[in-house]
Amino acid sequence: MGEFDLIRTFFTRPVRRAALGVGDDCALLAPTPGMQLAVSSDMLVEGRHFFADVDPLRLGHKALAVNLSDLAACGARPLAFTLALALPRADTAWVGAFADGLLALADAHECELIGGDTTQGPLNICITVFGEVPAGQALLRSGARAGDDIYVSGSLGDARLALEALQGHLTLPPATLAAARLRLEMPTPRVALGQALRGIASSALDVSDGLLGDLGHILAQSRVGACIDTRLTSPLLAAGASLQKPLAPGHGHLGGQRATRNEQARGQELLAPGRPKPADGPLGGQRATRNEQAWGQELIRHCTLAGGDDYELCFTAAPELRAQVAAAARHSDTPVTRIGSVQAQAGLRLLGAQGQELVSRYASFDHFSV
Ligand code: ADP
Ligand code: MG
Repeated sequence: MGEFDLIRTFFTRPVRRAALGVGDDCALLAPTPGMQLAVSSDMLVEGRHFFADVDPLRLGHKALAVNLSDLAACGARPLAFTLALALPRADTAWVGAFADGLLALADAHECELIGGDTTQGPLNICITVFGEVPAGQALLRSGARAGDDIYVSGSLGDARLALEALQGHLTLPPATLAAARLRLEMPTPRVALGQALRGIASSALDVSDGLLGDLGHILAQSRVGACIDTRLTSPLLAAGASLQKPLAPGHGHLGGQRATRNEQARGQELLAPGRPKPADGPLGGQRATRNEQAWGQELIRHCTLAGGDDYELCFTAAPELRAQVAAAARHSDTPVTRIGSVQAQAGLRLLGAQGQELVSRYASFDHFSV
């Protein structure tokens, strides 16, 4: 199948809201008067953002989901998107499944595919989304004020946990892995919540690179600091319930009765910036040593605080608006958790399991230094 047949078969659909869709040199959008256009692009590259053998339907979903997540973070309503696609070959079964995943999510959000580009090359997917937001009402990263509450939507860390398991760094019970993998491969953009937070949230962004790293952008652009309570963030790992089961004895390095210095160091490494190196023991055994419990706690912290690929919203709001935040969460059917507060003092402080201030290795987490 040639380029134009591919486009016609899989990516050409009648448009309802756009003035002109696929087939001409440009698509035409007719923005509603009084609205601003919100525009964002995200690229997914094989090997960097997804495994070569990932289910194409899930990949199609994710390619659009990560873009819709940016619109959500701004409080914008999705309108349309373009798709620039490099394909190694015209594999119609693969492209068909990819288009199914992509367009199902597009339909769910009434976001129309209006154009793009198709070329032969290493698999690469670049989507640009267009949304609209009432003029002056977009949620920005720069509006957080000292005293504001800090919230995050949904769950955190499961995508990272799945990634670690798929890379062979740890073993998860099959059902736990399947659920976590769904979070990695089919994230849920919080589009309704983002719009519901207009006029309520003082700042917002979507968590794509890990909560603390991304929250750091809000803090920098708002010129404030923050305190995050890990007693509130650790339970946000949906897989946490299975992880808290003790590690199986005798399997991995942390499986024995007593940890060697090396094993303790391994646990410590989870705290350090960069890739975690969890032990290889399966989770879910009979009894855990103190070290194993500490290791589990560090793994949970690492995944929730610095995991990446969550596509949840992190936002701030004045404490007087707690009822409004709760109403926005209810109306958008999206769980929201208050995890800390904005402070005038610069920097990011973390509270540990006993409410003590953690020596804040996470807080200095910098994705550009990894
Ligand atoms: P041009 O040569 O003018 O850039 P193309 O021949 O590349 O146009 O594309 C023809 C039409 O198909 C255009 O309307 C373009 O937007 C659309 N198109 C190309 N690739 C895709 C794609 N992957 N998804 C949706 N529309 C596409
Ligand atoms: Mg042209």
